[in-house]
Amino acid sequence: MKKKVIIIGSGVAGLATSVRLSKMGYEVHVFESNPYPGGKINSATFGEYRFDQGPSVFTGPKYLKEIYDLCGEDFSEFELVPLKTSFNYFFNDGLRMQLSNKRNEIVNEISEKLGEDKKNLNAYLDKAAKNYEAIAPMFIEASLHSWRNYTGKSFFKALGRLRKYKLFSTMNEENQKAFRNPKTVQLFNRFASYNGSDPYQAPAMLNMIGHLEINQTPYLPKNGMIQITDSLYNLATKYGVEFHFNERVEKILVDGKTIIGVKTSKDEYLSDAVVSNMDVSFTYERLLNDSPFQKPEKTIKQEKSSSAIVFYWGIKGSFPELTLHNIFFSDDYKAEFNGIFHEKKTVDDPTIYVNITSKYVKGDAPEGCENWFTMINAPIDIGQDWVEEIARIREKIIDKLSKVLGTDISELIEVEEILEPRKIEARYHGKQGSIYGNASNNRYAAFQRHPNFSKQFNNLFFVGVSVHPGGGIPLALNSAKIACEYLGKRVK
Ligand SMILES: Cc1cc2nc3c(=O)[nH]c(=O)nc-3n(C[C@H](O)[C@H](O)[C@H](O)COP(=O)(O)OP(=O)(O)OC[C@H]3O[C@@H](n4cnc5c(N)ncnc54)[C@H](O)[C@@H]3O)c2cc1C
Repeated sequence: MKKKVIIIGSGVAGLATSVRLSKMGYEVHVFESNPYPGGKINSATFGEYRFDQGPSVFTGPKYLKEIYDLCGEDFSEFELVPLKTSFNYFFNDGLRMQLSNKRNEIVNEISEKLGEDKKNLNAYLDKAAKNYEAIAPMFIEASLHSWRNYTGKSFFKALGRLRKYKLFSTMNEENQKAFRNPKTVQLFNRFASYNGSDPYQAPAMLNMIGHLEINQTPYLPKNGMIQITDSLYNLATKYGVEFHFNERVEKILVDGKTIIGVKTSKDEYLSDAVVSNMDVSFTYERLLNDSPFQKPEKTIKQEKSSSAIVFYWGIKGSFPELTLHNIFFSDDYKAEFNGIFHEKKTVDDPTIYVNITSKYVKGDAPEGCENWFTMINAPIDIGQDWVEEIARIREKIIDKLSKVLGTDISELIEVEEILEPRKIEARYHGKQGSIYGNASNNRYAAFQRHPNFSKQFNNLFFVGVSVHPGGGIPLALNSAKIACEYLGKRVK
């Protein structure tokens, strides 16, 4: 008889886990409190405008392809749009840069507009690639919590580059050393936000995040980001995974040192193993709160990643100077991150990200109009007056975009919805609205992340952005792979 596994949550990591486990021969049940799969990767239509509500930058599709390969499915059927550009950058002093998605053209553009030496830029990007290639097999694609990881070839390869990781510098310190123009430093510091961290505290090693975007390229699925959820959900149902939507897990059931199932908002279900795709802090605090075992207090108390405020705007007009990804930088990046991580407030001149899928996905906006996903990084919820904060920041964003684009944006907004930290917690159970679990704001962060398995219970596992290897879609997909490897060995 098949062993039965229950997965709590159908985020991208929960979905990937479900497909992998069903292919490994387990009977898999996914419980999801929302009426839809995908967690933060979901889609909504407001008026005549469709929006991807969460992630918009898709890097590392090879990790999704791995799942297709595992199933013997053809990944070319997961169609990706050939993008003409990667990011458009706007600075307050009027400087504009349109980066292509080819590295040599990006280097030329940065060199021409920001006066950087091409050789130097190439050396920086080569180093990011080499660091990624050395680190990924050990820190991203495998468990950091297994002794085996410290004896294999990957470990010695990663160790061989130890000096290059600049373990005692921050991202910003290294970028300041690498580049002469503060705008180039700001452009590369921005990659800290890809896992919700602060470039003025995060270790320089994270500068390799840029590798996935500049040496490789950001991708867009043909139907928008929702296609990632749809494709994994379709694979899961095809391979027999059973989904229970609108059914919140309220408790993980424990008998001695064994997990025996879950209690949901509707019933109790027994299983041979449980995988939690819920934020790991909440898993302990809400689902295992009355179990008599030692909780990993350090993990629970770790600094959270940033949150976000998103305005989903249906814009009655079109802007040829904008592309799929647009960044409107602030003048004082340090103050912005200080606000997010220390003062826990948004600044008056935040960096604004505008994502417009209707540039590529037909039907996402009516003819002559655009769907603007307008986002700023924000602090986690500690009880701020969000009504006041959002009203203030909305006005500042509209002023800034109107000034840069030379058009009064406020008159063009015909549809508006808002996502903010409290909603992120309520909708996706991300503690205090953090969108990437814990921040990576110190050099030990990678080692402080919770493993993909439980040390107390042989049959409890963890996936998603709040556990190893961390935030973002590629890492969440890897968390699923690692957890399944452990589960396969432990639950036979
Ligand atoms: C605005 C925004 C922008 C982002 N941009 C990017 C980006 O551009 N690129 C990128 O790679 N990443 C981005 N991210 C982060 C990205 O969303 C995550 O990396 C990834 O989607 C998280 O997947 P996950 O599997 O960890 O969990 P989640 O998507 O958080 O899903 C967890 C699921 O578990 C369910 N759940 C939790 N607890 C329970 C329970 N007790 N019972 C039942 N169900 C439960 C929740 O309802 C949810 O559906 C962004 C996130 C946000 C919010």
